[in-house]
Amino acid sequence: MNTAFSCVGCGKCCNDHHVPLTLTEARMWAADGGQVIVLVEGFLGNGLGLPVQQREHAERRSVEVRSGASEAFVAITFAAYNVGPCRNLDEDNLCRIYERRPLVCRIYPMEINPHIPLNPAIKECPPESWEKGPDLILGGELVDQELAGLIQRSRQADRDDIRAKDAICALLDIRTTALKGDGFTAYLPDMSAFATVIDHVAQQPLTNASSDWQFHVSGDDIAGQVLAAGAEVTTETPLNYAFISLRAA
Ligand code: SF4
Ligand code: SF4
Repeated sequence: MNTAFSCVGCGKCCNDHHVPLTLTEARMWAADGGQVIVLVEGFLGNGLGLPVQQREHAERRSVEVRSGASEAFVAITFAAYNVGPCRNLDEDNLCRIYERRPLVCRIYPMEINPHIPLNPAIKECPPESWEKGPDLILGGELVDQELAGLIQRSRQADRDDIRAKDAICALLDIRTTALKGDGFTAYLPDMSAFATVIDHVAQQPLTNASSDWQFHVSGDDIAGQVLAAGAEVTTETPLNYAFISLRAA
């Protein structure tokens, strides 16, 4: 597959997109007065919730935790909460923090997950951005090596940050995950508490957070599979999060 691309500066990717942030970027977002959304998904040690070929990538960006009698792996995303235009987008569709914009803003429209191929049809970029410009992908390979380096940095940050994110979540009482493929749990932490906890965790030696995770799932059939594996499933009404279902209605 060959794909040409040239950003036309339409600013659509800066609207209604929660931008995943590294831990350092999330702290910066808090310092700037922005809101972070915490998105959580996990899978079980027996593989429930995960296609086999995705296991290595998913495991490397997850933290191994306990849920009831089961081993589980939880991936935690801190993202800029962008409902409508990003707080840094100006009237001319230019980024006010361009020189220090997050890694993911530099990578879009490329994918970070190696199991998700670039699909222009589902990207915000208008047709003209795909009609001219330099080759982005030639023969299925990304051409721009600088961009490839940014993608690698983003993947590495996911791996480097995950244990600290788990410790931060434990202190913020974020302990319910969705099952990968079934949905996400989404939290909007108080940002001054979020910043304080990040700084606190940064000053401590990292130990595995001791508290267990529980699963919030979309229906009784999936709950039955999770329970059969020995993991814990909540049936409580969520108090501090929303469940975003990925299940077709
Ligand atoms: S930080 Fe800048 S580039 Fe990133 S979404 Fe916001 S306005 Fe767009
Ligand atoms: S949506 Fe695509 S073309 Fe528009 S600003 Fe973002 S990257 Fe550029």
